[in-house]
Amino acid sequence: MKLILLGPPGAGKGTQADALAKRRGLVQLSTGDMLRAAVKAGTEIGRKAEAIMKSGGLVPDEVVIGIIADRIEQPDCANGFILDGFPRTLKQAAALDQLLDSKGTILDLVIELKVDDEALAARIENRARETIAAGGTPRADDNAEALRTRLLAYYRETSPLIGYYFAQGKLKTIDGMAPIAEVSRQIDDLLAA
Ligand code: ADP
Repeated sequence: MKLILLGPPGAGKGTQADALAKRRGLVQLSTGDMLRAAVKAGTEIGRKAEAIMKSGGLVPDEVVIGIIADRIEQPDCANGFILDGFPRTLKQAAALDQLLDSKGTILDLVIELKVDDEALAARIENRARETIAAGGTPRADDNAEALRTRLLAYYRETSPLIGYYFAQGKLKTIDGMAPIAEVSRQIDDLLAA
């Protein structure tokens, strides 16, 4: 099964993708996590991406498309995967369609997590606070200014994907404001249908 979780920053894509991957034995592919790992490791991609990510902007399409193209070739992806944070632009979506097509496979479903804009800032502030309370360092982009840029990027570049996948008959929307377990249940219901 090949799925995409779509939604604005703070919608809970990462939480749900991780839980769903474990429930179904799928691989979670988070471009955000991969890029943060590249920054930490100081690779060439990481060096290119660091400042962009910190500001809340989008890393160039060619970079993330390259990362995903390599990753889905790995044997562990053969059973299926959940994309979380990719695609984020129409160009990335078209590249993904092409990649899957060239492997003779297709995307099964795109699940949109719908949340109130008002709630996003609170969730992200909360995530930063909890990380600090646990003795960790919050993400460099979990602050009010970067969040504004991330939200703008979402509405400008990523939200058109809702129409793109609706037109393909692949879009399902669920209420991302529900408690985490309830969102998981709704996702399972969708997959069972
Ligand atoms: P969010 O909580 O904002 O959804 P992610 O962890 O998915 O965060 O991504 C963090 C940052 O990594 C983004 O703001 C962006 O700079 C970069 N990034 C991740 N995925 C992509 C992508 N598909 N295209 C461009 N940039 C990306």
